[in-house]
Amino acid sequence: MEAKIDQVTVSTDVIIVGAGPAGLALGIVLGRAGVPFVLLDKLEQGHNTSRAAVIHAHTLDVLEELGVNERLHALGRKLGHFCIRDRDRPLLNLQFQALPSRHPYLLMLPQNQTEEVLNARLREVGGSVHRGWTVDALTDLGDGVQVSATSVRGEHRTFKARYVVGADGMHSMVRKTAGIGFTGHTYEESFLLADVAMDWTHGNDEVKLFFSPAGMMVVAPLPDGTFRIVSTVDNAPERPSVADVQALLDARGPRTGTTTVTKVVWGSRFRLHDRVADTYRRGRFLLVGDAAHVHSPAGGQGMNTGLVDAKVLGEMLAAVISGRQNDAYLDGYAKVRRPAAMQVVGFAGRLTWLATMRNPVQRFVRNMVLSLVNQVPVAKRKLEMALSGLSRSAASKTPGAESRNPGGPLAALRHTTA
Ligand SMILES: Cc1cc2nc3c(=O)[nH]c(=O)nc-3n(C[C@H](O)[C@H](O)[C@H](O)COP(=O)(O)OP(=O)(O)OC[C@H]3O[C@@H](n4cnc5c(N)ncnc54)[C@H](O)[C@@H]3O)c2cc1C
Repeated sequence: MEAKIDQVTVSTDVIIVGAGPAGLALGIVLGRAGVPFVLLDKLEQGHNTSRAAVIHAHTLDVLEELGVNERLHALGRKLGHFCIRDRDRPLLNLQFQALPSRHPYLLMLPQNQTEEVLNARLREVGGSVHRGWTVDALTDLGDGVQVSATSVRGEHRTFKARYVVGADGMHSMVRKTAGIGFTGHTYEESFLLADVAMDWTHGNDEVKLFFSPAGMMVVAPLPDGTFRIVSTVDNAPERPSVADVQALLDARGPRTGTTTVTKVVWGSRFRLHDRVADTYRRGRFLLVGDAAHVHSPAGGQGMNTGLVDAKVLGEMLAAVISGRQNDAYLDGYAKVRRPAAMQVVGFAGRLTWLATMRNPVQRFVRNMVLSLVNQVPVAKRKLEMALSGLSRSAASKTPGAESRNPGGPLAALRHTTA
């Protein structure tokens, strides 16, 4: 099903631009459905860095059909709790064990390992990533699309396909070429991210989100015994040192016990944006993952939302390319998935706003409200559902998956857009 690209002009059904988690997952769905596709990425090797470290319950439910869950679980670490604290004082304890999911927990796994699992599965379904190929021009031909790409060796290829999918990240050239706006804003603070080894006497069975007057900080245990630290900082260093991370822990983490950083395994910084593409489809151009939405990492939803996009879009493309649905059916993709991204942006934005409050009065009120919420099971459940992604389950039902939508091909679409 995967087209060879040794001819100067290559015909296929779908070109996927970008082999991050969203592009890889899309390739797997198309490969399983027998849809011919070509997956191109400009990098000769993947990013191979830790980045997104959590896979949520809803994503694992959705990924089940792709045949990757066993391997993800073999590598990952299950956590049942997410706790919000003001330094030593617990404010809100969220628990996932009772959620309506086959995977009621957070699965901690660095993104490079998630990508390795996706890559391996892609090969099993007959696909591969053509690395070192930069897509540099796209033309919508009305009944198809023409894509030009150049390799790192200077070779050129022209692809003719029925659709092109931009899985090419936040600065997506597919989105820009399609003239699709990316509406939203950029946060003032930068984020520091570090995977560290440390002596830590505060347990390793939950994700801890610390609020403090100095700013927020997340401490999350990773499968190899290290910890992921995420923190808002006015000017984050490009490569955080042991001293940088230690200073954050001292100023924001628990005052009691031991919190001594011994090594920074990997670190980075990034700026935050809250942006959603104005539409996910224009003509023959479609968007998935960060090309379609970016937001604060609070709650760890970025990669998760992109993986669900890929599953839904892949199934819809397969339905159109096999002739079970016509082209207009793909308009439903944005109707299903864009509202899910808007919800994620709202949720992650509210969490970031709460976490970065500096005014003492606001902080006092916030802490009181969170402590109250902690006493109200219904309110806690709502937050657990949002964090796990399960509150957005309806937006992962592929319109046209007749067996799962007995109301007919568009029943799920009608349901989610009503
Ligand atoms: C430092 C950092 C830390 C992060 N931490 C977290 C976190 O803790 N939690 C979380 O949920 N998310 C986090 N993220 C975000 C997460 O990594 C992304 O949401 C996720 O990678 C998006 O996947 P994607 O497949 O949509 O796009 P990407 O992973 O961005 O992949 C896009 C791919 O497209 C390729 N590409 C781009 N343009 C072209 C072109 N013209 N031709 C060919 N190929 C092209 C790129 O090479 C790239 O491989 C972090 C991101 C960064 C940078």
